[in-house]
Amino acid sequence: MVGGGEGSQIGPVHLMAARLDGAFDFVAGALDHRPDAGRAYGERLGLAPERAYGDWREMLAGETARADGVELVTVATPNAAHYEIAKAFLEAGVHVLVEKPMTTTVDEARDLAHIARDQDRICAVNYGYSGYPLVREMRSMIAEGKLGAIRLVVAEFAHGHHANAEDAENPRVRWRYDPAEAGASAQFADCGIHALHLATFVTGARAARLSADFAACVPGRQLEDDAMVDLRFDTGAVGRIWTSSVAIGRQHGLSLQVFGETGGLCWSQERPDQLYWTPLGGRTQIIERGGDGLSYDAVHANRITVGHAEGFPFAVANIYADLASAIRGGTRPELYPTALDGLASMQAIDAAVASAGDDGRWIDIPEITL
Ligand code: NAD
Repeated sequence: MVGGGEGSQIGPVHLMAARLDGAFDFVAGALDHRPDAGRAYGERLGLAPERAYGDWREMLAGETARADGVELVTVATPNAAHYEIAKAFLEAGVHVLVEKPMTTTVDEARDLAHIARDQDRICAVNYGYSGYPLVREMRSMIAEGKLGAIRLVVAEFAHGHHANAEDAENPRVRWRYDPAEAGASAQFADCGIHALHLATFVTGARAARLSADFAACVPGRQLEDDAMVDLRFDTGAVGRIWTSSVAIGRQHGLSLQVFGETGGLCWSQERPDQLYWTPLGGRTQIIERGGDGLSYDAVHANRITVGHAEGFPFAVANIYADLASAIRGGTRPELYPTALDGLASMQAIDAAVASAGDDGRWIDIPEITL
């Protein structure tokens, strides 16, 4: 792993998720932007001293010189460093799981997708929420036609953890609103695209057009901490996405509702083991993770019997399980988010930034051609 050092938000999730099924061992890392802190943390986590690197370039040189060098590298640094690190490892023939947003520009994302294709390596993007069993159940139910044609998708990812103006200079918060570190968008690129990825993952539809309203509610922020994005999918379905980091009282705040001609589905990440399904004219049913009658994909994403909570590291573990299967020719369904998903998100961010800068003008999102 590169990044994900001590105290980081996402590093511990990767450490748990990658090893949950025993498919990967954690063998090397350049975990922190401070070389000594990275080396020391790596050793405390059990890395051999010669594989607890101070810098990712050292790690690249060290690992590519070994016969047993890393098979997959997770890139969990702040956004601006994703591109050069992912590019260097892909070019060296190492599979990559890069955190979202994949890069800070569409051109960089397209470049990574090209390099992965040309090197015949996987470049996956960690839209980890798509690993939840009941999100995969939603996808299967929609594909089976249980909702009829989809009319409307409403997704939210609104929390309140950056609402304190006095905390704005905290280094863990500050980089997210600094264009040099985060790119052209903050909250939409950080959280909104998870909601958008889920919408496209479960419906199979492509986001074709959007209109965005961005606001920086905390004074002094250069990038948005709240956004409302209206969408039209290529199927004609309507999309509404609200994302915020100033919604005090909301915790994780990720939810997904899909409304079709003959039914509706409602799922919330804070109660991930229940999916609410209402057939047109019928009663609302609660579908339990691990219960009877679930789809093949949901059954394969499940680990613990019904009634015992799983949670986020288990969902991300499904991304790693899919990757292990894809890398080693296994039989799991290939549901991990790919470089094309990462590129589609970068195009949506680009369109949202342009729209928000032009009073919410509707903007087309190009189809991906590599
Ligand atoms: P963070 O600020 O909490 O931690 C970043 C870590 O990266 C720190 O340990 C820092 O020392 C290290 N780092 C910075 N530059 C580095 C470099 N050049 N080489 C090695 N290490 C370096 O950030 P975070 O919240 O953990 O976010 C990291 C990435 O993960 C971001 O891209 C973010 O968008 C993404 N993220 C994804 C999810 C998700 O659900 N998929 C959730 C949170 C964060």
